Amino acid sequence: MPGKAQEKQKLIDKEEKRIDGRQLDELRPIKLEVGLLSSADGSAYIEQGKCRILAAVYGPREAHPKHLALPDRALLQCRYHMAPFSVEERKSPAPSRREIELSKVIREALEPAIFLEYYPRSSIDLFIEVLQADGGTRCAGITVAALALADAGIPMKDLIVACAAGKVEGKLVLDLSDAEDKLGEADVPVALMPTQEDAITLLQMDGILSLEEFEQAVNMTLNGCKQIYKLQKEALKAKYVSLKEETEE
Ligand code: ADP
Repeated sequence: MPGKAQEKQKLIDKEEKRIDGRQLDELRPIKLEVGLLSSADGSAYIEQGKCRILAAVYGPREAHPKHLALPDRALLQCRYHMAPFSVEERKSPAPSRREIELSKVIREALEPAIFLEYYPRSSIDLFIEVLQADGGTRCAGITVAALALADAGIPMKDLIVACAAGKVEGKLVLDLSDAEDKLGEADVPVALMPTQEDAITLLQMDGILSLEEFEQAVNMTLNGCKQIYKLQKEALKAKYVSLKEETEE
């Protein structure tokens, strides 16, 4: 039987390639689509590696229940949920502590971008449905939610974009997969607004890093976010290009 140390060596090989063939500073392949649901006011879908996440937005609409309404701004209500079939072992459909916490964390990461004060007493409802999870769903959830909000026509300062970096077998890596997240030493998810001087709206750390490693990890996420931001803008444009083509036909 292989020893624990031997087992751990499998995540990064001698050529510094990761288990899925990526370089240390390489994102997983990302596919984004905007406006795919007809019943929601805004929607978007992301595939990031093996992760598959759908986001839908309703509103701004009358806040419900009414006592939650705020006199000076809209209420952002966010539900992050993992489908029972999104992980290997069937997950209970009831919201877990982790999902309740992530719903809050994601809401707080998105709020700074939205002009909530334009819609007093109303509610913007955001649903993030993880169809398949393979690590980094909070970041991919934020990236796709920002697109769904923009698709719903919600006025925003900028799109929010998110990605994580971490430490695996002593090396800093970008955009951890589930195995890297579980077996690695640390994970630093970051969300930011690129046109607002990279204002950071989410910064968490799970595990242990030196100060220098932490700074390097954050810099890696800045790079990753820049790449994803480009894809977000392309996905938004693609929707309107295809609408234009349809109307011209
Ligand atoms: P994130 O998805 O943002 O990395 P966590 O660090 O909490 O959030 O979770 C890491 C990964 O663990 C998830 O992306 C998912 O692949 C896996 N995971 C989370 N909850 C479960 C669960 N109930 N059963 C199996 N795997 C899970």
